[in-house]
Amino acid sequence: MRGQMMEQELLISNIIDHAARYHGDTKIVSVNCDGSQHRSNYAEIQKRSKQIGSALIKLGMKHSDRIGTLAWNNHRHLELYYGISGMGMVCHTVNPRLFPEQMVYIISHAEDRAVFFDQTFLPLVEGIRENCPGVEHWVLMEARSEEMAKGRDWLSFYEDLIASGDADAEWPQFDEREASSLCYTSGTTGNPKGVIYSHRSTLLHAMMSATPDVMGFSARDCLLPVVPMFHVNAWGSPYAAALAGSKMVMPGPGLDGESLAKLFNDEKVTIAAGVPTIWAGLIQYLEASNTKLPHMNRTVIGGSACPPSMIDKFRDDYGVEVLHAWGMTEMSPLGTVNHLKNKHFELNEAEQKDIRLGQGRPPFGMELAIFDDEMNRLPNDGETQGNLYCRGPWVLDEYFLAEQGTTLEDGWFHTGDVATLDEDGFMIIRDRSKDIIKSGGEWISTVELENIAVAHPALSGAAAIAARHEKWDERPVIIAVKAEGQNVSEADILSYFEDKIAKWQIPDKVIFVESLPLGATGKILKKELREEYGDCLIG
Ligand code: AMP
Repeated sequence: MRGQMMEQELLISNIIDHAARYHGDTKIVSVNCDGSQHRSNYAEIQKRSKQIGSALIKLGMKHSDRIGTLAWNNHRHLELYYGISGMGMVCHTVNPRLFPEQMVYIISHAEDRAVFFDQTFLPLVEGIRENCPGVEHWVLMEARSEEMAKGRDWLSFYEDLIASGDADAEWPQFDEREASSLCYTSGTTGNPKGVIYSHRSTLLHAMMSATPDVMGFSARDCLLPVVPMFHVNAWGSPYAAALAGSKMVMPGPGLDGESLAKLFNDEKVTIAAGVPTIWAGLIQYLEASNTKLPHMNRTVIGGSACPPSMIDKFRDDYGVEVLHAWGMTEMSPLGTVNHLKNKHFELNEAEQKDIRLGQGRPPFGMELAIFDDEMNRLPNDGETQGNLYCRGPWVLDEYFLAEQGTTLEDGWFHTGDVATLDEDGFMIIRDRSKDIIKSGGEWISTVELENIAVAHPALSGAAAIAARHEKWDERPVIIAVKAEGQNVSEADILSYFEDKIAKWQIPDKVIFVESLPLGATGKILKKELREEYGDCLIG
């Protein structure tokens, strides 16, 4: 039909162009590997992303070539995000916390032609380099240093490379469905699998992220993404914040409570995002040092279940609203965020709080459903538990280079989570299907047990696992870490569960450990705990 709208592809370069054009002087604060700070703005980031992108093209990189990064959240990583994707290549963020063999596997699987890395990861790169023969350029994200260059003829330097690029280069135009970035799942079982995001999926995800019932980024905000840029593109926040024109603070390698609290307050951060383990460390520091967070008004917590006690503490002691979110690498990652609806203001405080305990509801663009093991659809009644599936324009269609038709089931992506959904779409994750405890044919949620355990003031962390049991098949066991200076007994912890859950769900045992094993994205490695303690109730 004649007389319609302009044709314009949704490209990642549009985001940084918009930010540079209308929020050019909005600050980007970045912490370097040595702890010093670098201050720039969107105009500068746009120029340098054009420069580094065009420098890569001059080096011979072609459209759709994969370029790897092994880097913290910092300004050069941001320039690479926009420069690589903007010039039509694919930005492959590699998680430096993976085992070296897994890194070699994904760099080779992705066929990365160049890898950019932070100084912190130089020893790591020296260890894996020879096993990655496809990588033609290893680029240290620093200015040239003769000391570093000495004896390393394979090494190039970011600031040398960027100097060969063109700050006025034109972004190429192409189909928005083409690949923009690549991230591998954490791969706790088997090899990691690649998820390719497109320009279109990234923009749609970013636009929805910025809306009020999701993360609500605005030009009045200052965002500090604690979640790493190598973990599902820092949940897409570097795109969403730039299109909204938010100030950004990139924390570099210092993710301890003290460094974060200082940045939050010095830079007047209004919104942060990260996994619960990071916030547990921050809260410990805030309490010990009696530090408040006068500027922060909300923080997005996801990646694993956020314990209700953490939500209360942030609100009551620090005036910070927790936005509990759920998602996956395969979903860009946003699936749900917990925000109340207008009708909920008629409920009393306790009823409202109950709604806030789950992972929230899907925004426009995300559809969720629960099915039983035979793919029969289950009701959204808030009580029936089932296998959680999803679909939408930012959910993957197929893993990178996977055998065709092996990723989806009836057009739905199987998340591997077990959940309930109510009629408004409020979702509660009850467990990962492989973590859930099956005791005498009944399911016990490890999430629920952990939420209770970590609310005990004498514990700083806890994981619930299924231990084998002669009579009941499996019974719950708590692996707990005592808070500093606390001396609590197994009986104290077990009695704490008493009035909170059904008697048969109370764990059989508590094992105290010095620390819990964490995976590459900060999640507790339950599999390792099951291997170590899975037989503690037998014999
Ligand atoms: P990843 O792809 O590494 O981000 O891991 C995705 C998985 O993390 C999901 O399938 C969930 O099992 C878990 N997860 C993420 N966010 C939450 C949350 N808010 N509550 C419970 N589990 C979560």
